[in-house]
Formats: sequence, structure tokens, C-alpha cells
Amino acid sequence: MRIILFGPPGSGKGTQGDLIEKRYGVPRISTGDLLRRAVLEKSALGKKAEAQMNRGKLVSDDIVEGLVRERIAAPDCRAGYVLDGFPRNLAQVRSLEAMDGSRPEMVIEIDVDACTLVERMQSRLTCQKCGAVYNLSLQKPKIKGRCDVCGGPLVQRQDDKPAVITERLRVYREQTEKIKAHYQAKLVYQKLDGSGSVEDVFGRLSRILDQKLVPAKSAKALR
Ligand code: ADP
Repeated sequence: MRIILFGPPGSGKGTQGDLIEKRYGVPRISTGDLLRRAVLEKSALGKKAEAQMNRGKLVSDDIVEGLVRERIAAPDCRAGYVLDGFPRNLAQVRSLEAMDGSRPEMVIEIDVDACTLVERMQSRLTCQKCGAVYNLSLQKPKIKGRCDVCGGPLVQRQDDKPAVITERLRVYREQTEKIKAHYQAKLVYQKLDGSGSVEDVFGRLSRILDQKLVPAKSAKALR
């Protein structure tokens, strides 16, 4: 099973994707995280991607498609995976189908109103070392400016600055929203109310996923 988490920037795809990984034992693949790692490592690919990311634009399809193709070929993806941030336009939808077309899939749109999205992104801090996400009002780190998980420095993402947030939301409406009709026509699309606490949203999400997937702990018990 492939789960595609779909929704505007700030809708909580990463947070919910991590919880899916823990509950169902399928890895979360975030193209944003893969790209940020390449930028930090200053690889040739990272250098190409950085300017686009900092301006809130999409990185070229061939770069992200290459990253996803390599990642989903890894052995831990055999039983399934959760995609966060990919596909983001129709060309990427087609490319994913060419890479791994026969796998059953579920596409879940996390629906959050525009004011909440902006508020969440503006108050978000991200660990520069491990990518863990904090929120200045809801999920504060134990020590100011330091990651609870790895002790790395917490920074505001360049693309979480107000002008770039506006651009990311525009790109989402213009390009990414179009993929919804494709998945609706395939009858694999579901909408999820993304308001409320992380736990509220995951409660609703796991009620949908429990119909299709076995939580990792019970899967072990069955073996
Ligand atoms: P968000 O979904 O909150 O905007 P991400 O971490 O998923 O954040 O993505 C950050 C940036 O990485 C995007 O604004 C874009 O520049 C780039 N990016 C991520 N995924 C893709 C993709 N599938 N195609 C093109 N660019 C991407």
C-alpha cells in the first residue's frame, strides 16, 4: 500500500506521516526532507534545489523524481510507504505511476483553513540537524533553541518567512491542487479534517487507515 499525504504547506503532512510510520511500520518519505538534507550536505543536487526552495517555487521534476525513485527502491519500502510532498504536479503523478504503478494507493488530503496554515508555518521551528519540528505556541522544545531529540540548533526555515509562505500557497493552488481531480477519478481520494490537535487529527486518520492496514504491533503478534 502506498499512502499519499496531500495538502497545502503547513497542513501537518510531516507530523501525521511520522505517526503513520510509527503505527503501521511503513516509512515516511518526504521530498522536502530529502531536499533539505541535500542542501545541508552542499551536494550538487542540493545547490541546484536551494534557490528554488528559498523562493517557494517547486524544484525541477527530474531532481525530485530521481530522489523518490532511489528511495522507494530500498528494501524497507517493499511493504509500502507514505509519501509526503510528492507528487506535487501532474507530471510527478505520471512519473510515480511509471515507477511503481501497480501498487494499491490511498490519497488523503489534509484540509486546514488558510489562516491556521500561515499561523502554523510562522511559529514553526525546525532542527537543522535532524529535521524535527517544533512550534513556538504548541510544541515548545525543552531547552530554548535546542532540539529535544538530537540537541541540534532550531531555526526558522528560510521558506517559512511570510513572503515565501504566500508564494508556496500560490504554487500549491496553481499546480498541486490539480492532482486532486486525477485521484478523485481513480477513486482513491479521501478528505480529512486537519483542524484541532495533532492527536485529534491522527485519531481521524487512523480510523480511515485501520480499515486497510494492520498496525505494526498487531502485525508482529500475527506472525
Ligand atoms: P511544505 O509542504 O510545507 O511546503 P516541504 O518540506 O514538503 O514543505 O517542501 C519544501 C520545499 O521543497 C518546497 O517548497 C519545494 O521547493 C521543494 N519540494 C518538496 N517536494 C517537492 C516536489 N515534489 N516537487 C518539487 N519541489 C518540491
